[in-house]
Amino acid sequence: MSKRDYYEILGVSKNAGDDEIKKAYRKLAIKFHPDKNPDDKQAEDKFKEAAEAYEVLSNPEKRQRYNQFGHAGVGGASGGGFGGGGMNMDDIFSQFGDIFGGAFGFSGGGGGGSRGGRRVNKGSNLRIKVKLNLEEIANGAEKKLKLQKFVSCGTCSGTGAKGNAYENCRSCNGSGVHTRLTQTILGAMQTQSTCSACSGEGRIIKDKCSACHGDGIVRGDDTISINIPAGVADGMQLSVGGKGNAAPRGGINGDLIVAIEEEEHPELKRDGMNLFYDCYINFADAAMGTTVEIPTIEGKAKIKIEPGTQSGKVLRLKGKGVPDINTYGKGDLLVNINVWTPQSLTAEEKKLMEKLKESKNFHPNPGKREKGFFDRMKEYFE
Ligand SMILES: [Zn+2]
Ligand SMILES: [Zn+2]
Repeated sequence: MSKRDYYEILGVSKNAGDDEIKKAYRKLAIKFHPDKNPDDKQAEDKFKEAAEAYEVLSNPEKRQRYNQFGHAGVGGASGGGFGGGGMNMDDIFSQFGDIFGGAFGFSGGGGGGSRGGRRVNKGSNLRIKVKLNLEEIANGAEKKLKLQKFVSCGTCSGTGAKGNAYENCRSCNGSGVHTRLTQTILGAMQTQSTCSACSGEGRIIKDKCSACHGDGIVRGDDTISINIPAGVADGMQLSVGGKGNAAPRGGINGDLIVAIEEEEHPELKRDGMNLFYDCYINFADAAMGTTVEIPTIEGKAKIKIEPGTQSGKVLRLKGKGVPDINTYGKGDLLVNINVWTPQSLTAEEKKLMEKLKESKNFHPNPGKREKGFFDRMKEYFE
């Protein structure tokens, strides 16, 4: 199933400001709010879709990644192996509860269930660098990554408590929040604040686990496999949902942010989707024509040099470049022909040259059809 564009979902333009995005989301969130649309699956889907769009577009880093790579950049891709994806209702209420601010009649804790209330801890994001060579970039790659990160404590199963010994927070009665009703000109408004006694968790550890000192997390190793889509570039960041650091006491894992580092190819140069190769031939081959072997990302390839080829001629090998990460269209390999001028000559070579130099065909005679430097440059970029 293809995902809708986040800007389209919120009905805003690509250069919409933060305020406009927030307003648009708020409007949709209120329209499709489950309290207003009980047992309406379609409204719920729309509500979730809008929250997901807002989650990305309200975060400058995620928004930039989305603008650059589409859904693939923010962990919502259908292909490429990046997990993450949809949000559940609890995530939405814990992250954006504030957008339904009291005046609109939606208190975070309304509607029942586990909404609002207890704070859910979120693990921190983990950043790593992955080096890729040109072949891996062109074809996409599966990478096994060894990670050192916070993992759930095995001794207490991540609860932080010895023998699961918890007690309800007495200050907030286990709700994690203190709720107050205030009268305003708009009517009664419910405000909530996080309980400081339990940091919003609703419960307090009676006896701390000695392995993790009550954190529920310890340093550990993890190995994961990720699929890197073809066409990534140096400096790009991919996020893998839920593969970052574990959260204290059984919360939601952070994300793994993979920063791409591109290794330079010994012979091919990359510019976006296109590849460039400098090919040197001697002037006898340039004059008489030949076949030369050149490197491509699929291995060696043979190309034909026509008789009478001038230095600076560019041969375009269609589709031998790098795929575009979004469209999967492929770039070209541009082979720049350089005719090599000998830099030293033996006495015999000199004699031969002297002879050839007088020959009529050796006088430069560029015709109209010989494209000059500027025309060739123009051709590249068109
Ligand atoms: Zn523990
Ligand atoms: Zn409390």
